[in-house]
Amino acid sequence: MGRVYAVANQKGGVGKTTTAVNLAASLAVSERRVLLCDCDPQGSASSGLGYGRGRAERGTYDVLVGRATAAELIVATDLPFLKLLPATADLVGAEIELADAEARESRLREALAPIVDDYAYVLLDCPPSLGLLTLNALVAAERVVVPLQPEYYALEGLADIVSTVERVRATLNPRLAIAGILLCMVDGRLSLTSQVEREVRRHFEGRVFETVIPRNVRLAEAPSFGKPALLYDIDSRGCQGYLKLASEIVAAEEQT
Ligand code: ADP
Ligand code: MG
Repeated sequence: MGRVYAVANQKGGVGKTTTAVNLAASLAVSERRVLLCDCDPQGSASSGLGYGRGRAERGTYDVLVGRATAAELIVATDLPFLKLLPATADLVGAEIELADAEARESRLREALAPIVDDYAYVLLDCPPSLGLLTLNALVAAERVVVPLQPEYYALEGLADIVSTVERVRATLNPRLAIAGILLCMVDGRLSLTSQVEREVRRHFEGRVFETVIPRNVRLAEAPSFGKPALLYDIDSRGCQGYLKLASEIVAAEEQT
């Protein structure tokens, strides 16, 4: 049965898209069928997989407003086991257009229901807000990965996403759980980084991935070639970090 993971944090630039793309690719190279659904109007996950502006005419928006099925709009990527539901620019209007729609928070869940079991993993890349698109992702998901950049205000922002997840679990989606907080762009030379890491691990004991993703320029370069890091520089520390995260997630699944 397919497992749906949302990659969410209302803060921008913390590593959500990098995580969604590279975790999806890392799961896919072990020959698990993976679907990445781009829920961010910015479309960075789509362009990071070779679907930059204009290449896909329709995507998540059309699925949310009921103009197409997900199966019709899913596209192939350079990795045979990784598929993409791309985001197009009109997704930016979805929050407003759906504001008065019936069951507006469960549009994505309904849209993915017919295909979820075709995949071992479905990953949802969320926009940097806690608006209707992220809410749709949290209603559709069973697990949340929360990327976090270890900086001074990181813990404050974390409280918002954690309480949002708890609220969604209490109301719209009782299956929802935090898979883990993921420390991204970790620079081991900075004492602030290790301070924040210690604090996050103490505060959210048992809910922080053991794997941390180092700051690594290869992860930032790969998207400009429309490729996940493992098709760009598989030996890079960043890419190896995401492969390790994939193993940690698969191992955790096998225990439950
Ligand atoms: P978000 O989706 O949360 O806004 P991104 O994944 O787009 O964040 O990351 C923000 C920026 O930081 C991007 O330019 C990305 O390439 C870069 N980046 C993300 N993770 C790393 C990393 N581990 N090392 C170096 N650069 C990174
Ligand atoms: Mg992003």
